[in-house]
Amino acid sequence: TQYVYRFGGGVSDGGQGDKNLLGGKGANLDGMASIGLPVPPGFTISTEMCTRYYAEGQSFPESVRAEVANGIAHIEGITGKRFGDAADPLLVSVRSGARVSMPGMMDTVLNLGLNDETVQGLAATSGDERFAWDSYRRFIQMYSDVVLGLDHGSFEEALEIAKEDQGHFLDTDMTADDWQKLVDEYKRLVQEQWGKPFPQDVHDQLWGAIGAVFGSWESDRAKVYRRLNGIPGDWGTAVNVQAMVFGNMGETSATGVAFTRNPSTGERAYYGEFLINAQGEDVVAGIRTPQYLTKVAREEANAKPLSMEEAMPETYAELARVFDLLETHYRDMQDIEFTVERGKLWMLQTRSGKRTAKAALKIAVDMANEGLITEAEAVGRVDPAALDQLLHPTLDPDAPRDVLTKGLPASPGAASGAVVFDADTAEKRAELGDAVILVRIETSPEDIHGMHAARGILTARGGMTSHAAVVARGMGRPCVSGAGTLAIDGKAKLFRVGDRAIKEGEIITIDGATGEVMAGAVPTVQPELAGDFGTLMVWADKVRRLKVRTNAETPLDCRTARGFGAEGIGLCRTEHMFFDAARITAVRQMILAADEKGRRAALAKLLPEQRSDFAEIFEIMAGLPVTIRLLDPPLHEFLPHEESEFDEVSQAAGVGVEALKRRAAELHEFNPMLGHRGCRLGVTYPEIYEMQARAIFEAAVEVAEKTGEAPIPEVMVPLVATKRELELMKDVIDKAAEAVFADKGRRIDYLVGTMIELPRAALKAGEIAEVGQFFSFGTNDLTQTTLGVSRDDAGRFLTTYVDKGIFARDPFVSLDVEGVGELIRLAAQRGRATKPDLKLGICGEHGGDPASIAFCEQTGLDYVSASPYRVPIARLAAAQAAL
Ligand code: ADP
Ligand code: MG
Ligand code: MG
Repeated sequence: TQYVYRFGGGVSDGGQGDKNLLGGKGANLDGMASIGLPVPPGFTISTEMCTRYYAEGQSFPESVRAEVANGIAHIEGITGKRFGDAADPLLVSVRSGARVSMPGMMDTVLNLGLNDETVQGLAATSGDERFAWDSYRRFIQMYSDVVLGLDHGSFEEALEIAKEDQGHFLDTDMTADDWQKLVDEYKRLVQEQWGKPFPQDVHDQLWGAIGAVFGSWESDRAKVYRRLNGIPGDWGTAVNVQAMVFGNMGETSATGVAFTRNPSTGERAYYGEFLINAQGEDVVAGIRTPQYLTKVAREEANAKPLSMEEAMPETYAELARVFDLLETHYRDMQDIEFTVERGKLWMLQTRSGKRTAKAALKIAVDMANEGLITEAEAVGRVDPAALDQLLHPTLDPDAPRDVLTKGLPASPGAASGAVVFDADTAEKRAELGDAVILVRIETSPEDIHGMHAARGILTARGGMTSHAAVVARGMGRPCVSGAGTLAIDGKAKLFRVGDRAIKEGEIITIDGATGEVMAGAVPTVQPELAGDFGTLMVWADKVRRLKVRTNAETPLDCRTARGFGAEGIGLCRTEHMFFDAARITAVRQMILAADEKGRRAALAKLLPEQRSDFAEIFEIMAGLPVTIRLLDPPLHEFLPHEESEFDEVSQAAGVGVEALKRRAAELHEFNPMLGHRGCRLGVTYPEIYEMQARAIFEAAVEVAEKTGEAPIPEVMVPLVATKRELELMKDVIDKAAEAVFADKGRRIDYLVGTMIELPRAALKAGEIAEVGQFFSFGTNDLTQTTLGVSRDDAGRFLTTYVDKGIFARDPFVSLDVEGVGELIRLAAQRGRATKPDLKLGICGEHGGDPASIAFCEQTGLDYVSASPYRVPIARLAAAQAAL
């Protein structure tokens, strides 16, 4: 097997980019080099090597050493420099790069190949001693941190002390001599902490770094990131080794990052930051405040330091040409890293840029309108889950705001929560159900879990491309970065702005759209759904086959869902109507009744209430199907559980406390989920389902008469396991229907069907379809009953199951396609073999999960049903599944 793939200088071993093999970074370096962009030559060690490295006890086969040597020779050939040559040394960067960009991975090592001898050669050939020693100290610092794992803080401290000793304020004030002294100090720190001198052999340096990249694939950070983002552990990472170019060679050199469009708003404008006389991650590390790329942006921000467009007009013009080339080549917005070495532009990275949901939407719609991509492609470009961000409330513009300070609007959306100062606390408090805002000087990859747990992120330092900003945008968390007036006192657990102090636990609000930070919570308003959102939805609806319904039972939810484009109700849970405070007494009287007569009397009180509920829903859903599930939960759920409630309930229901307690005890079940619930209630107390059916049909006739548009009720019987159960229940429902129709002198169409939520029902679907006219897969229960895992208790072990790879994702969130999915496939086939026009839908939580929706499309279901706010997500996911 070949493990090393060269790029640059007209060579392209990777043939432009198999991301699975070369990782995203490697594939795109190869890609850029092949379309003639200025990319420093290098080579990529493939992800297959990573897999083999772990398979063979973290060691390298002999063959790959020869391949790497060959790769180095390739770089030497093009640059004319030799690795380890004391006179004119080749320096390289060593970078990790998985299929998808992963902040959990190893940081890049720059300037590798420097030692006590080659630093002299670098000084001589560059004619710049200061630059050479600056590069060497950077190298030792980075290598000690990311490869040797030494205490990063002590190196930072040594730098600060060195600056103070010399009376310098900025890194750029340091002289060659100052850097050289710092190098001595760094070497001393390495000896002290590592017990060995800093490696002088350049090949040792290189293999140390390569091993560290592969080793970082199994680091805790990387594992956390993979778990949060559903990235499989067996992908592995690639390693990129590339000739160094230098942005720290004086005033005509620079380094920067840029987006080809605004990643926050999606606006079509180049967008980025750069720093003169700087290297690598200086821009994102928040060491110096970066300068703007374009004149417009600088003027808008009222900033003084010249933009790149003004400071280096020629190089900037070349960069702008590269942006356009990259967008046309990759047909997407690109996130770019570049370096200018003595006026010459070098491209170091490109990838599809992370963007907010708002930007994703705008960019997709714009690019389709520009003719760069098709409408269908635009539909495929927006992550349905990210739409969530757009559908959620923003700050009420009219509400008063107690503004503490303002930072950069780094990631849009608004969030209120309790202030916390570290990631672990954020995670702990979030687990307890608190909304928290993570407040940091700046964030680093170690903070990822805390950023994920937080509602929003606030940093004192860092620009729009800082770690906090990029990660927050990717996660869909609101973020305000670089709020410079914020002084964080980590020890006292508070931050100050001006003369005000905000302690840990106090509530603040951040507005990621304006950058404002406010004391207290600010009320929110519903978002607008017109514009690009509407356009994309129209395109999505053109390609979608699956219908999208909603799970809703209140008029508000029904209206919201219809506004979001729901095409009916897939699940209206009637028990929620029973819990209503005004009705619960009648419900309890029904439960407590000694006989059928007593039950019927109580049910008679509930009938008009249910009828008016249904009438309201039918009116809102005029002309659309409405699936109503008959009573499902066990009756004891409606009885009081707390001692303190018994008195009150006994009075309201007109039953003695003792009788009440006796009845509650009688109804107690050891395993209610598998107990007296669903159609088992209807079988034992048919009068309950009869009342509900009456209410449905009376309401339907009433609405048909009132509006002239008959609703289409689909009466659904829950928890059916056998054909006979459904037969009995259908009989009750049909009789109620006939009675109502005879009474009112008007008929309407309706269907009677069942939920498929027990494995037996799925297996016997062929028989059940003889009676039922539709199936709705109740995947919450079907998952519980198939896996034998209680949804309410699974939290304790499911994360471990996901960590150990037993489930790729929580099966209650994303359908277990292999297991539960097989039952669904089988039930669909058997059901349709009996009744070819059998209507099939899904109404569990999975109905709003994009991966599960893709499965529903493949299985040929007719519709999915999701909670109101997930309806647009489901529409988009259904369209993507059909692409
Ligand atoms: P990340 O994926 O975190 O962006 P990279 O591997 O791209 O990490 O490296 C980070 C930074 O290091 C780059 O933005 C670039 O500025 C710098 N860098 C990487 N390789 C080189 C190189 N060959 N020459 C100069 N700078 C480099
Ligand atoms: Mg970077
Ligand atoms: Mg990079």
